[in-house]
Amino acid sequence: MSESVYADVKIARSSTMSLEEYRARKVALITGVTGQDGSYLTEFLLKKGYEVHGIIRRSSSFNTGRIEHIYKDSHEQGVKFFLHHGDMTDSTCLVHIISQVQPTEVYNLAAQSHVKVSFDMSEYTGDVDALGTLRLLDAIRTSGLTDRVRFYQASTSELYGKVVETPQKETTPFYPRSPYAVAKLYGYWIVVNYRESYGMYACNGILFNHESPRRGRTFVTRKISRAVADIHLGRQECLYLGNIDAKRDWGHARDYVEGMWLMLQQDKPEDFVLATGETHTVRSFIEKSFAVTGRKIVWEGEGVNEIGKDADTGKIRVRIDPKYFRPAEVELLLGDPTKAHEKMGWKRKVTYDELVTEMVVADIEGGLKNDTTN
Ligand code: NDP
Ligand code: GDP
Repeated sequence: MSESVYADVKIARSSTMSLEEYRARKVALITGVTGQDGSYLTEFLLKKGYEVHGIIRRSSSFNTGRIEHIYKDSHEQGVKFFLHHGDMTDSTCLVHIISQVQPTEVYNLAAQSHVKVSFDMSEYTGDVDALGTLRLLDAIRTSGLTDRVRFYQASTSELYGKVVETPQKETTPFYPRSPYAVAKLYGYWIVVNYRESYGMYACNGILFNHESPRRGRTFVTRKISRAVADIHLGRQECLYLGNIDAKRDWGHARDYVEGMWLMLQQDKPEDFVLATGETHTVRSFIEKSFAVTGRKIVWEGEGVNEIGKDADTGKIRVRIDPKYFRPAEVELLLGDPTKAHEKMGWKRKVTYDELVTEMVVADIEGGLKNDTTN
């Protein structure tokens, strides 16, 4: 990706337009565009005819692997995807980008999104995930676009944390269990507050875990699919994990970005849960992933001494490493997506089995090509 992509994009000022004219432009701004969801959302919005702007962080090595295939040099004709340097910790650049782009929809996906890392980097996680959301909302106000922009906030099922009620829905009380979840709780409430205080069209998508071949490699599903692929290709012996009895409601990211968009197309702004309505253990994800490569895992031992062996060869393929345990764990997530289904017609399409298969197959194919982009 050449330096020119970050050059200023000239956009005609649209402050004299009526609200209808302004909104008909279909211009989206995505923070966190280089992440898993940002890349799928960009593809989705471009297909819908949007002009898409993304905020990326300056990095000494390329961090654009997930969007490389979508990007065209801005010197070419008909380009509808633009990138801007910025950071959620820098209000000045957020104000500058919002007033320059004049978006009709803002999707706030940027976050330090890893729960375990948030225990190590709690202050930074709060700065980006909590205050970053406030900075972005305020940049919209400062730019005089409060009544013109529709705002999507990437809220999370981690807000539910300790089990109070299952399945978890929009009315379930929150009980966050990590600095990440506490920071996202601030993000959730500041969005509600801006909606109620300033009449902003702002929504929280309370999304349960969603995965894909583009999921970050340190999240458990991708860590497993990569390891299973590498073991299959003879490049790895054993996979080390933490709590394999945790349960998650895992969907496919591609389905979930459609739900994000739908939330911004309703008559009035509301918060919605997106989930599959099924829950599975990490242990099940391991077994299903190995099954994709024709291997069966059998379990022996208990607690930190538990091991997973290949049923045919007897080789140890899974071990527990306590360094992956969290100071406080979220044991069970199971969402109820009824509201999203009834009000927006949203439903996940990809099943759990299809998700696991797609991830393992993609990692085997990537491994064969030595592909390191995701
Ligand atoms: P990723 O971790 O894949 O992507 C996070 C994005 O945020 C990356 O583009 C990253 O940039 C960017 N980012 C991080 N810090 C900053 C910063 N200081 N300034 C600007 N950008 C920053 O997350 P996902 O795509 O999986 O998730 C998207 C959002 O949804 C996140 O907010 C996440 O917390 C939330 N969420 C995700 C769920 C999931 O299961 N995936 C479930 C519920 C909520 P870079 O590439 O440079 O690191
Ligand atoms: P989270 O739900 O946002 O925390 O997503 P993760 O994919 O990071 O973790 C999902 C669950 O897998 C959590 O309960 C973790 O404790 C559990 N887990 C077990 N071993 C690991 C591991 O090695 N890495 C990660 N990331 N999670 C693990």
